[in-house]
Amino acid sequence: MKITELHTHLLEHRLDRAFESASMRFDRRQHLLVEIVCDDGTTGWGECLGPALPNAAVVKAYARALIGRDPLETEKIWLELYNLLRDQGQRGLAVTALSGIDIALWDIKGKHFGVPISTLLGGRFRDSVRAYATGSFRIDGEDRVDSVAKEVAGYRQEGFHAVKVKIGFGVEEDLAVIEAVRGAIGPDMRLMIDANHGYDVLEAVQLGKSAAQYGIDWFEEPVLPEQLGAYRAVRAGQPIPVAGGETWHGRYGMLEPIETRCVDIIQPDICGAGGFTEMRRIADLAAMHGVRLVPHVWGTAVQIAASLQFMAALAPNPPRPEPIEPILEFDRTHNPFRQAVVKSPLEHQAGLVRIPDGPGLGIEIERVALEEFALQEV
Ligand SMILES: [Mg+2]
Repeated sequence: MKITELHTHLLEHRLDRAFESASMRFDRRQHLLVEIVCDDGTTGWGECLGPALPNAAVVKAYARALIGRDPLETEKIWLELYNLLRDQGQRGLAVTALSGIDIALWDIKGKHFGVPISTLLGGRFRDSVRAYATGSFRIDGEDRVDSVAKEVAGYRQEGFHAVKVKIGFGVEEDLAVIEAVRGAIGPDMRLMIDANHGYDVLEAVQLGKSAAQYGIDWFEEPVLPEQLGAYRAVRAGQPIPVAGGETWHGRYGMLEPIETRCVDIIQPDICGAGGFTEMRRIADLAAMHGVRLVPHVWGTAVQIAASLQFMAALAPNPPRPEPIEPILEFDRTHNPFRQAVVKSPLEHQAGLVRIPDGPGLGIEIERVALEEFALQEV
């Protein structure tokens, strides 16, 4: 079995209404899928976290080292590709591009052996996961307190057990949003806050101290991801558990934050942190240090499927009769191709998502959607 082709699929949808987090403005949705084809006709799919065009360029840079290779040699290929860019890479696009390739190779491996990836990873601890709703971005022309309160009440109606709210725009307004959200969802629904590194330490500590009374499960990306000392100061200075990790890549990118306890919850993204091959090592690292792992998820159904396979095989830590279950980040912002790229959408039912049990990622790609949403200007 040999790899014969590698294709990148750049997908885009321009939004009628832009939305923004503290660190990024979204006037379009853009994601990159990776397709790897083998000589026996087997095709594997992956996805890369981050901007589609630069990711596609790096994926193509890896292509020469992939063609002709045995796709089942995932460990050997991962190391070789990582080494190709190690001296200038180590993180960022070098690893996000590699992630998409690695996921596609595991999809091929699962299809080759006729089993889901979770079986290849050692077996399933669960067949479904509870999802939490991610939304509540700032939308152009809307009063943030009102619109976010309305939005989260809708998630409660849909059956979600938890919601994550975007903050990082300014402490006073953020606190008003958090208070309104708690009022709208009631006392029992779980609530997380995500500053997308929009604060400095003093603001984050002030926000955390004041927001703790609203019962917050975690405080995500309070400060800039490069500032690990600032993370530790936020964790020491306020009572809400600190989460982060979506911008840290590879096991080396996760090592210091985990070892020095910058976070209570580490959030690697399978499409950014190195694919299945590296996520296994990151999961071991987190478990060995007693840091909880909740994956970051922001992409199409390909990314959701990959995250689900990984979560199915994520060992409980600690094992016990009713263990702590991982929860799935479920992006609720507008993206018409998120589920359109697969023949059977990976939707939630009353906040619960079933983990596919077909071979590989357990999805079938809808090629019509790839054409419909293909990025026009390259
Ligand atoms: Mg986040």
